[in-house]
Amino acid sequence: MRYEGNIYSPHIAGDDYILQCTIGCSHNQCTFCYMYKDKQYRVRELNEILEDIELAKEYYGDVKKVFLADGDALTMPTQDLVTILQYLYAAFPGLAYVGVYASAGSILNKSLSELQKLQKYGLVEAHLGVESGDEEILREIHKGVSCEAMVAAGRKVRQAGINLFITVILGLAGRTPQARAHARNTAHICNQIQPDYIGMLTIIVQPGTELYEKMQSGEFLVPTDREILQEMRLMIENMELANTGITSMHPSNCIYLDKVLPAGKDELLQTLTRVIEGNEINLLRVRDTDRV
Ligand code: SF4
Repeated sequence: MRYEGNIYSPHIAGDDYILQCTIGCSHNQCTFCYMYKDKQYRVRELNEILEDIELAKEYYGDVKKVFLADGDALTMPTQDLVTILQYLYAAFPGLAYVGVYASAGSILNKSLSELQKLQKYGLVEAHLGVESGDEEILREIHKGVSCEAMVAAGRKVRQAGINLFITVILGLAGRTPQARAHARNTAHICNQIQPDYIGMLTIIVQPGTELYEKMQSGEFLVPTDREILQEMRLMIENMELANTGITSMHPSNCIYLDKVLPAGKDELLQTLTRVIEGNEINLLRVRDTDRV
């Protein structure tokens, strides 16, 4: 298989096929993000991408899930994405899922009918990095997008019938009183968007990022596990979701939770309170999930 640089996808299963449609991230400026620092953003030639699908067909035979990488493959022209989707579904008879990383900008740059067309041709899910619902934090991390634009983008994806998976990051405010505002405002933005899934991650400060320099200079203090769990609890307390899966099943987290809200909200809060107030905090990682 042909890949350029480090490859990321939100799925951990080893048998998914990751198809690199773009190289790197069109934004590449978030202060905490290390993923595509080694890459200059560009969209790959359509012919190369279609050749890759042929190679993948020879290599894998059939796959059930494909993820379109890198950082923001939705920036591609809609017709090219439609061609890619057609090739994928023709190549893999068992294909049931195609997902993509999308930024608020690339979503808003497409019309609703373009997004609906992508859904019709088999784009099942878009992954949008919301990170925080706090305007000040979005500015500090150089996300390059306002809360208002993030909400509009999230709602547009859902309106198009594409599943929306958003990620939020615990600990982004560091050990400051702003952490509580981050928790509340992030819950608020989730309430406004009503995504299908919310993936909670915990900040990991990586060398080579601006956040790492801030940590080295003492400007950013990494929260403790207990503080992260308190932030998570406050965020969930403030969530009012009609039917959204919450998952923290990610290696960055000190606790693995996976429930659907609103039904699982009380249970999640009870688990978090038990862990925060008890001795279990030393036994991390704790699991409270509906998964087997
Ligand atoms: S967090 Fe997302 S948008 Fe920001 S630089 Fe990383 S990949 Fe790009």
